[in-house]
Amino acid sequence: MYGLPKVFVLHCVYPYDRVTGNSKMSKKALFLDRDGVINVNYGYVYEQANFDFIEGIFDLVRLAKSNDFLVFVITNQAGIARGYYSIEDFNVLSAWMMMQFVSQDAAIDKIYFSPYHPTEGKGEFLKDDFSRKPNPGMILDACADYDVDLAQSILVGDKMTDVEAGQRAGVGRNILLTDMASSGDHECVSRLKDALGYFDNVVIG
Ligand SMILES: [Mg+2]
Repeated sequence: MYGLPKVFVLHCVYPYDRVTGNSKMSKKALFLDRDGVINVNYGYVYEQANFDFIEGIFDLVRLAKSNDFLVFVITNQAGIARGYYSIEDFNVLSAWMMMQFVSQDAAIDKIYFSPYHPTEGKGEFLKDDFSRKPNPGMILDACADYDVDLAQSILVGDKMTDVEAGQRAGVGRNILLTDMASSGDHECVSRLKDALGYFDNVVIG
């Protein structure tokens, strides 16, 4: 009658896959905003010609992968909502972007994007959608798709809406890429290079 609580027993039994013998422990992830973190934000970038990678992004993703992190892009794409470009345009650019990361030995696992805008969207894209940051929908989708350990995960964004999405989802470490000093419960770096230290012998909380 004083046996182990059921939750504890289940936790001990089921993280292990008896068929493959593989651990089913959830994985850490690096969540990256796109515009202003991966590429220079010229505003509504949808073509290769305007896609300039930010210095240090390949090193950051490569290091995350080598530390066994999954890597996801989570990006608001209000340009689709506003009719500036199509989902097809976005997909073509994304496929090319993914290939650049692969060629740098820094493969991204998946891109999540939100094509909505709450006031400026056209047609079906006029929506205050849960996927649009600062809402946490995209992060929670990745969590559901890949069984991510959010508390052990890291987010890098260049706007407070990115940080807020991370905090609301429960991401353990939310890093703002900015020239401003830190002013709150998130960390700041002024260059991607400065975020590299977070992946060497990562120990969070
Ligand atoms: Mg951004």
